[in-house]
Amino acid sequence: MQFHQLEKAVELAEKGMEKISVTDQPTGEKCDLCGHDMVLKFGRFGKFIACSGYPQCRNVKPYLEKVGARCPECGGDLVKRRTRKGRFFYGCANYPTCSFSTWKEPVPTPCPKCGGLLVVASKEYAKCVKCEEQVEMSALEQEKVEA
Ligand SMILES: [Zn+2]
Ligand SMILES: [Zn+2]
Ligand SMILES: [Zn+2]
Repeated sequence: MQFHQLEKAVELAEKGMEKISVTDQPTGEKCDLCGHDMVLKFGRFGKFIACSGYPQCRNVKPYLEKVGARCPECGGDLVKRRTRKGRFFYGCANYPTCSFSTWKEPVPTPCPKCGGLLVVASKEYAKCVKCEEQVEMSALEQEKVEA
């Protein structure tokens, strides 16, 4: 009986610890207000990034899911975003400074012809947004494996 209770307590404690390690993932970013590490948290409205100096510092940023491709206009990271209606699109992390966005999924591999951004055009092809070069998806996936 007692042992059983202890086991339960340990289990709960472990669950609690698990929660902490999951909720505070380091992002490698520093808070631009106080210089503390920014950590990834899971809130009621999904993921967000907050300053580890909380509650002294209440700097919070939306979590941006990087897609591994570069913005063709400013070279910033492209991130997955969601419209108010819940539709996904891809935009520049430097928004609102840079307003580049696309509905099509960007491919991390740059265009072999001009170095521009490739986006998924169909199941078989990716298309360059700059020179409209078409690249077979299978060729791109091979490159991904090698890298
Ligand atoms: Zn801070
Ligand atoms: Zn940009
Ligand atoms: Zn191109």
